Order: sequence, then C-alpha cells, then structure tokens
Amino acid sequence: MNKEMTQGKCYSCQGIFPKNQMAKHLETCLPVPKTRLTVGQVGTQTGMQKQPAEAEVPCQRTFRILAEGHYQPEYWLYFEIPAEAKFSGIDRFLRKTWVECCGHLSAFKSNPTLPSPIGKSRPLGGILNPGMKFYYEYDFGSTTELALKVISEQESDFKGKSIRLLARNEQLLMKCEKCDKPATRICAQCINDNKGWLCDNCAPEHECGEDMLLPVVNSPRVGVCGYTGN
Ligand SMILES: [Zn+2]
Ligand SMILES: [Zn+2]
Ligand SMILES: [Zn+2]
Ligand SMILES: [Zn+2]
Repeated sequence: MNKEMTQGKCYSCQGIFPKNQMAKHLETCLPVPKTRLTVGQVGTQTGMQKQPAEAEVPCQRTFRILAEGHYQPEYWLYFEIPAEAKFSGIDRFLRKTWVECCGHLSAFKSNPTLPSPIGKSRPLGGILNPGMKFYYEYDFGSTTELALKVISEQESDFKGKSIRLLARNEQLLMKCEKCDKPATRICAQCINDNKGWLCDNCAPEHECGEDMLLPVVNSPRVGVCGYTGN
C-alpha cells in the first residue's frame, strides 16, 4: 500500500481523490468567498450605471488543517476551524471522529519529543500559521499519535459552524490473514506485531480468543484499547 496515495472523499463534491491531490482539490472545490463589500463601496457609482450590490457574505478567519496518523499516514482527514476557536475544539473533534474509547487524557505539542504541551484553552489564531506542524497524543498508555499540519488560512463563509470536516480517507481494505477475504475484526493483542486481521469466518478460531477482537473501523486507533468507532 502506498500510504500517500490512499483515496479519500471530498465532502463538498463527494469526489474521490488520492491523498496527495486532496489539498489542491479543496482549493478549487472550496473557493474563497467574494470579498465583503464595505458600506463605502456600495453605491459610490452614480446614475444609471450603478451595479447591484453583491450580497454581503459573513466571513470568518479560518484554518484548514490536515490530520493524519503520525505512524499511519494512510489514515487522514482535512478539517476547517475558525482561528478564534481553541485547541480544546480540535480535541473534541478528534475524539468524536477518530480516537475516543474510554475518556483518556490527551495533549497537543508543537514538538512530539518535548514534554510541554500547548494549553488547550489557547485560541488557535495566536499560535498556528500556514505550514506549521503540530502533534496530538490521545491516551498516554496505548498512545495514538496524530500529526497535524496547517494547510492554509483564509476568510471563509463559515455560517456559525464550529468545525467542518472537509475530506477523509476511504475505509482501507485489510485482508484476513487466514483466507484473504476482507477483514472485519482485529486482534488487540496481535496488532502490536502488525498482525491479527480476521474475517467473520476465521475470527472464532483465532488463538487469542474472541474477547480480544475489535471491529475494523476507519481510524488510526483501530484495534487499540477498546476502540470500536462508536
Ligand atoms: Zn470536492
Ligand atoms: Zn481506552
Ligand atoms: Zn478469513
Ligand atoms: Zn491475536
């Protein structure tokens, strides 16, 4: 599997694109809204040539961000969030979408090897810049590590949304290690050795026991702790 070429869906047009083309696609699929007209610009033309004023678009400064598994870049998503939002907003979004199993602790870091986290109550706008990378850790025991990158900053027609999922990788097709059929379960023990993908037929015979098996879900936390994607 070429991890940079895994396919994903753009939720704006439902189009399917490889990971390495999605950022470019989003630029054209989600164009920057027309600049707001100020009061001074409207009606400065006189007489019959006066153009109808364009409807004013409520705009907000936002960041578009790519999140991916730090060591599993085949799991990825793009989201957009207002600059005035806090890191806690990204935390809630990542938990809900990708990692929450049993309420573990989490942290953001600007450097994954340093212990000091970025405070979750800090607004994004004071810290993030286009091109900047930062990191997210969920569960300090069986940690899921995510890498995030600010793709762009723009004025966006956001209509009061707190966060918006723009695109996400399609479910990866893993094969059963016994019979090559599509895997539906993963063994929470064997995944540590990059094994343990099983289909429904082969799952009951797995040597670790059915209690160790978790559903195959579209997340970098698949097969870890009790993660089921619900
Ligand atoms: Zn699109
Ligand atoms: Zn857990
Ligand atoms: Zn099988
Ligand atoms: Zn096993």
